[in-house]
Amino acid sequence: MVESLGFEEFCERFEQEDVCRAALYEARWPDGFRCPRCDDQHAYVIRSRKLPLYECSSCRHQTSHIAGTIFEGSRTPLRLWFQALYLHAQPGGISALRLASIIDTTYKTAWLICHKIRHAMREADKSELLTGLVRINWGQYGGPYNPTVYLHPQEHILLMAASIEETGELAQVKIKQVPQDHLNEGYIVSFGKRQFIKEHVAPDAYEVIVETRKFRANKFQPLFQMCKKLNCWLNFTFHGIGGKHLQAYLDQYCFGMNMQLRRQPILTKLLELSASTPTLTYPVLIRDKTARRKSRPLSFFRVRAAAS
Ligand SMILES: [Zn+2]
Repeated sequence: MVESLGFEEFCERFEQEDVCRAALYEARWPDGFRCPRCDDQHAYVIRSRKLPLYECSSCRHQTSHIAGTIFEGSRTPLRLWFQALYLHAQPGGISALRLASIIDTTYKTAWLICHKIRHAMREADKSELLTGLVRINWGQYGGPYNPTVYLHPQEHILLMAASIEETGELAQVKIKQVPQDHLNEGYIVSFGKRQFIKEHVAPDAYEVIVETRKFRANKFQPLFQMCKKLNCWLNFTFHGIGGKHLQAYLDQYCFGMNMQLRRQPILTKLLELSASTPTLTYPVLIRDKTARRKSRPLSFFRVRAAAS
């Protein structure tokens, strides 16, 4: 029902913190309370504190409506979080800069909220493997105006993949940034291709068609077009994205697209995910995820690629 509300109506509906808390409780425990430790369904409500606590009647574990969610540890009021979720559920999403001006927070707070929401979207992507007929294409973000065989510093190689309907239309999509150690002079090595299939394609997929070379005419057109749209979205909405956090934006793009393909209500799903995904902290978010990979010897992967 919240899907049909305009932004102003939505802000009015979720203006009070207790209304947001009730909606969050409903999204987190749609069938009633469940203890996160022992799964018991009964709890006592402790109201002596500023915010209610739920104490499990079986194991005495105490939890709150935000413990174990992306809202945990945040000092931002829930009504502003809800506005951020609403704006992320709109076609095209929103940049941290615009969000900061709308909900009146600092840029850093808005940036962190955006990334926590993307983190919830990413968790949804992880649990859904591609099935049936799967097509995988080479793709790129950024890069030079005149393409060459050499990798430009601002060029990020991607693997664009989709489950395909019998009608030839896309059913589910995934886009992943290819790590440096799965590349050799800008080309995706066989090991990288196999690793992608292992991580993102269901073992019972009946056919997997892969084209990971850059200059090939037989790329699957719907994926090729999706790559173009993705580049436009990243450049138009966010004015360009660097390599470090690119994957989070790719996951956001796929989440929106998959919701659209399945005709699922995106805001309701986003609230459910936010209420069931443990938070991502700032130190973890800014940690250099590529540090470990960079330290691994490249030669190991080159030998593997040559041998396959
Ligand atoms: Zn319990």
